[in-house]
Amino acid sequence: MITSTIKKFVGRLFTPSASAGPQRIDRDQHGIDRRNVSRHAVKVCEVLRQQGYEAYVVGGAVRDLILGLEPKDFDVATNATPEQVRALFRRARIIGRRFQLVHVVFGQEIIETSTYRAPANGEQKTDEHGRILSDNVFGTQEQDAARRDLTINALYYDPHTEQVVDYHNGVQDLKKRQIRMIGNPEQRYREDPVRMLRAVRFAAKLNGTIEPGSRKPISALAELIENVPASRLFDEMLKLLTCGHAIDCLKQLREAGLHHGMLPLLDIVLEQPGGRRFIEEALERTDARVRSGRGISPSFLFAALLWPQVDARWKQIMAQGGHTIPALSEAADSVLDEQTEKLAIQRRFSSDMREIWFMQPRFERRQGKTTHRMIEQPRFRAACDFLQLRAAAGEFDSVLAQWWMDLANANDETRAEMIEETTRLPREAASEAPVRKRRRRPRRKPAVDGQAGGDAAPESLG
Ligand code: ATP
Ligand code: MG
Repeated sequence: MITSTIKKFVGRLFTPSASAGPQRIDRDQHGIDRRNVSRHAVKVCEVLRQQGYEAYVVGGAVRDLILGLEPKDFDVATNATPEQVRALFRRARIIGRRFQLVHVVFGQEIIETSTYRAPANGEQKTDEHGRILSDNVFGTQEQDAARRDLTINALYYDPHTEQVVDYHNGVQDLKKRQIRMIGNPEQRYREDPVRMLRAVRFAAKLNGTIEPGSRKPISALAELIENVPASRLFDEMLKLLTCGHAIDCLKQLREAGLHHGMLPLLDIVLEQPGGRRFIEEALERTDARVRSGRGISPSFLFAALLWPQVDARWKQIMAQGGHTIPALSEAADSVLDEQTEKLAIQRRFSSDMREIWFMQPRFERRQGKTTHRMIEQPRFRAACDFLQLRAAAGEFDSVLAQWWMDLANANDETRAEMIEETTRLPREAASEAPVRKRRRRPRRKPAVDGQAGGDAAPESLG
C-alpha cells in the first residue's frame, strides 16, 4: 500500500507533464504585434478579464500571427461558461448543441468564444474504430490545450500581457515548421481521422514537414477516413483545396495514401495525362487566386476537378450515338452520383456545377440570339472562366475562348457590337473547337474577328 503510494508519487515527479506549467513566451520571442490582433477579440478578452475570468485568443489565429500571416478569424477560449459569456455582451448568442459556444457579434465580425474543454478521457462514446462521437465536458486550460490537434494549434495569446501560453512546444515547432500531433498520434487519429488530413494541410500551408512520429501511423490508418461523415469530409476537402497550397496538399495526400477516400476518382484522374493537365491548371489558378487574396467559388472548383471524368464519359456516350446535351447530362449524372456518395457535394453546388458544364457545348457557336440568351444566364461568367481553363489545357480553341472572355468583360454596348459583328460575318457553323455535334449546315471557314487579345486571366471564378 505504502510502496504503491510512493511509486505513484515518484512516478508523478518524473512524468514530463504540464505539471511544470506551460511556457510563457514573451513578445520579443513570439513576435506578435498586438495591432494585428482583431480589436474585437481583444475587447472580448478584456471584458472577460475585468469580470475575473481568464480569456485568450487561441488556435489558428495565434499560429497565423506568429507566422506573419493574416488570420481568417479570431477565436477566444475562456474559463467562463457559455451562459456567463453571453451575459456580458449585448450581441451574443449561444450556438451548438453538442458543445455549446458563444458567438459575440461586432458588425461583420464574429468572435467565437468557447469554454475550455476537457480532452478524450476514454469515457466518451466512440465508434468501433475509436472515433469520438460526443465530447462535451468543460475543463481547464491545460486540458483544453491537450484536446487540440497539433502543437502549433494549441497556443493561447493573452492580449493583456502579450504573452503566449504554450503547453506543447508549439512555438518551437512553428519556428521549425514542424507539424506534430499532441499526445499519441495513432490514438488521436483514431479518435478523429480528419486530423490526418489537417496534418497534411498544415504541412503544405507552412511549407513544412510532418514530424516522423506523427507521420508514421498515417498510411496504416488512412482507410479510417471512410468512416468520416461525408459532409465533414467535404468541408475538409474544401479547406484543403482553398488553402492556397492545393497542389502541394494533393501531392502530400497521395504520398500519405490519403487521397482515395477524398474524391473517389481523383487518383485515376491524376493518372490520366489529359485530365492531369486540366486539373493542375485549375489548381494552379486557384492557388494563385487564394494567395492574392481573391475569393474562390466551390462550385467552380469542383466542376473543374470532376470535368475530366465528365468529359471522358460524355465523349464515350456520344461515340455510342448519343446526342450532345442528353449525353452530357447523362455523363454529369453518373459522375455526380458516384462522387456524392462519399463526398456530400451540396445540392446548391452540384446544380451550379451542372450549369457550368452544360454551357460548354454552347460556346462552340456564337450566333446573335443564342449569345444574348447565354449572357443572361447567372453562371455565364463562371462558365466563361471555365472555358478559359479548357483552352489553357489545350482542349478548346484559344482564340474563340478569348472572344468569349472579352465578351464577358465588355460593357453592354460593346457586347451588342461584338454580337452584331458575328451576325454580319459569314454564318459560323462552329468554331475550331473539337466537333461534338452533328451539324445541320455545311461547315464553313470559321470567322476570326480580331477581337482577341487583352488579359486572358480569368477575373472571376464565380
Ligand atoms: P484554419 O485556418 O483552417 O481555420 P484553424 O486552426 O483555425 O485553421 P479550425 O478548424 O478553425 O482550424 O479550428 C480551430 C482550432 O480548433 C484549431 O486551431 C485546433 O486547435 C482545434 N481543432 C480543430 N479541429 C480539430 C480536431 N479535429 N481535433 C482537435 N482539435 C481541433
Ligand atoms: Mg479557424
